[in-house]
Amino acid sequence: MDTIVALGTPAGRSAIGVIRLSGPDSLSIVRSIVGDNHFKPPPSRSVLRSIRSNASDSILDRALLTYFPAPNSYTGDDVVEISCHGSPVIMRQVVDLTLRLGARPAGPGEFTLRALSNGKLNLSQAEAIRDLINAQTEAAAQQALGQMMGELSSRLQGPQQELIQTIVELESALEFVEDDLPGLRKQNIAGELAGVATVLLSLASTFEVGHLLRDGLRVTIVGRPNVGKSSLFNMLLAAERAIVTEVPGTTRDTLTERISLGGVPITLTDTAGVRDSTDRIESRGVERTRQAMAEADLLVVVIDGSEDLGAEDLSVLTLASSARHVIAINKSDVPAFDILEKSRSSFVTRSVNVSAVTGSGLDTLRAAILEPFGSVDSSNSGFLITDARHYDLLLRARAEVQASVDLLQGGVSEELVLVGLYNGLRFLGQITGETTNDEILSQIFATFCIGK
Ligand code: GDP
Repeated sequence: MDTIVALGTPAGRSAIGVIRLSGPDSLSIVRSIVGDNHFKPPPSRSVLRSIRSNASDSILDRALLTYFPAPNSYTGDDVVEISCHGSPVIMRQVVDLTLRLGARPAGPGEFTLRALSNGKLNLSQAEAIRDLINAQTEAAAQQALGQMMGELSSRLQGPQQELIQTIVELESALEFVEDDLPGLRKQNIAGELAGVATVLLSLASTFEVGHLLRDGLRVTIVGRPNVGKSSLFNMLLAAERAIVTEVPGTTRDTLTERISLGGVPITLTDTAGVRDSTDRIESRGVERTRQAMAEADLLVVVIDGSEDLGAEDLSVLTLASSARHVIAINKSDVPAFDILEKSRSSFVTRSVNVSAVTGSGLDTLRAAILEPFGSVDSSNSGFLITDARHYDLLLRARAEVQASVDLLQGGVSEELVLVGLYNGLRFLGQITGETTNDEILSQIFATFCIGK
């Protein structure tokens, strides 16, 4: 096995930059760069040393070195972490030095892949580490952390055990013909397997909310000019702690920011954008609604409740009616709002009254934004499936188990019933990586960042 190297911290300037080596030559490479053939720091303790390209050269940096001897390291290999000063120049030189001494640049997720093959963690835990690093909200990080600690695998253990026990029972019934299962026992087994199918379905159903936590929602505010889109946008931004990630592809015409609503990362776009100087504004609300509909998971249609509905409001409402949307009737602080409320009701059903000036109704609006995207099944006590791969495998496993239940109840031979049980077990095994082939593994690890 070779020795891999990568930056463990982001490239660029920082106070400290960590370079990580993993593999059998880690210690000997580090001995060369500190110029001490007997260098052997105590396990998991940091030691300060000078780093040089050659014994005769001047020093490159003073760095803290931490040695994690196999198998007590993240990867399970010999690992050395070099904490240098976070200068891109220094880090580049140190990495180059390790490469010259025989290390190889690590691929995406390769450290975690090694941890997986050394049995330090299972596949769903490895994926959780990736998700933890990528988490955009506290709630998403919390879910990833639970999965990293093995929560998904432990929840799968029950169903896996039941499938194995049933397989053993059916196999032995086949083996010893005289032990043919009595009808009553078959009914009991069918009942137990139906229970397994229900557990798997209930776990899978948490994906509806779980994937939102991880991937978030795109919410776009539309409406004719001057209804208060920008004011509402700013109000939502100010109240929710902004998420500090870059939003790619922000156009000049729109303003996009990230916020967190109930732990769900929301990419919020205000289509008011740049004002049209030529005053051809009457059709822009409609035009932008049309564009936004293609890209958003949900539209917030804003209407000015202090004025009569105009033709353009009605066009926007009509357009939005074919997309998932929430209607926010703004300016509820203006006295005319209440007077006009009755005349609006024939056009506007299921709406939220808000004021972007006083903030009234904003909580209701937030809840209304999340409401169409499902609620959590409380039987799973907060645990959520966040990964589409896991969701898919759970559904497949459940379908196989359910098919076996149907066959069993239909009096079909045990041999056929067993096929579904073996398949179900295999799909569950793919979640934790017990039965995952190399091709799938390399696809999954391609989604990791380098250095993890
Ligand atoms: P946009 O063109 O839809 O983005 O609308 P703006 O957010 O720029 O708001 C248009 C005008 O309405 C501004 O003068 C705002 O101060 C005012 N406005 C927005 N929301 C409210 C509100 O809830 N109450 C009141 N009284 N005025 C509002």
